[in-house]
Amino acid sequence: MSSLKAILISALCVGSLAAMSNAGAAQARRAAFGALTDGTRIDAVDLSSRAGIRARIITLGARIQSIYAPDRTGKPGDIVLGFDSLQQYFDYGNYFGATVGRFANRIAKGRFTLDGRAYQVSVNDHGNSLHGGTRGFDKRVWKIESLHSGSSASVTLSYVSPDGEQGYPGTLHVTATYTLTDNGDLRIDYRATTDKPTIVNLSGHSYFNLASSAAHFSTMRDLLQIDASHYTPVDDTLIPTGTIAAVAGTPFDFRKPTPIGLRIRDGNDQQIRYCHGYDMNFALDGRAGTLRLAARVEDPRSGRVLEVYTTAPGVQFYSGNFLGGAFVGKHGIIYRQGDAVVLEPQDYPDAPNHPNFPSAALAPGATYHSVILYRFAVKR
Ligand code: BGC
Repeated sequence: MSSLKAILISALCVGSLAAMSNAGAAQARRAAFGALTDGTRIDAVDLSSRAGIRARIITLGARIQSIYAPDRTGKPGDIVLGFDSLQQYFDYGNYFGATVGRFANRIAKGRFTLDGRAYQVSVNDHGNSLHGGTRGFDKRVWKIESLHSGSSASVTLSYVSPDGEQGYPGTLHVTATYTLTDNGDLRIDYRATTDKPTIVNLSGHSYFNLASSAAHFSTMRDLLQIDASHYTPVDDTLIPTGTIAAVAGTPFDFRKPTPIGLRIRDGNDQQIRYCHGYDMNFALDGRAGTLRLAARVEDPRSGRVLEVYTTAPGVQFYSGNFLGGAFVGKHGIIYRQGDAVVLEPQDYPDAPNHPNFPSAALAPGATYHSVILYRFAVKR
């Protein structure tokens, strides 16, 4: 990692929202963000739309660095956590805004068997593998393949993961396409192909805080709805037990909009205790493979609403339990426990070790395709 220690060469100002909203159509513009110590340049791509939403994507980890969305008075605010400098992304880890892979979430002891062959992948979390291991896709420099401006603005980033990287079989060609539509939806299309049987599970790890203002930063009063009548309980290292349990009667029942903080301190619930709050995969209702609503978050103070749609079978809801107050993020705000809502559409955690979970296997000749769509609105 030390060779990847980054230095900031420039932090370009993003144009004012007023300037952006005057733009005729949705725009994608490339800018410098920083450079690694070996000189590798890290670029940013600014996507803007006439709907007043704008997003900045950076090539380190194909990650979202900012999203600006208006509140109910029309005032724009940055609604994702992150950093102004490249160095901070290395210093603080935690996957801020990143594309996580090859396998988002956990694999027990980093071991799995595929077509009768046993594999050991890199472990980095209590003896388990988390988000691709010690050097997952979040720490890789992705290449900008194409930019597009017009009725929508988009950028396609690519990464080639060599056979055996972090222990995973097969050369994996991955793309992440971020599209900002002119009505302000931000859509991510992940695609991957392999030359050997492998497993793939890609997700976006944005930490949302719809309040955007430091004075109201806790998300505990946000109303959360998750369209899942089941979840996958875990052991004390957050590996699923294999049970797909009903949410009814548990603090994991978010089928109706419920304040996040209402049951987050329920010490009678073993799962809440294991997770230090919420850090759980929900088995989404509706058919995997079709784009459907997974979750909705509403911040009653700003009026901002986020809807998350996905084709993935599950969504991990992580309530920022491990944000310890040690990070000074963008806009000079310190990130404390519970300051974010992280909704990670994905395959179920540890899927390769649970035949009753939807398969995360990818065969040569097939294309993995998973979609996340963020829709922003206001409630007046
Ligand atoms: C995991 C958490 C982990 C966090 C790291 C989440 O996706 O579920 O357990 O601490 O990522 O930022």
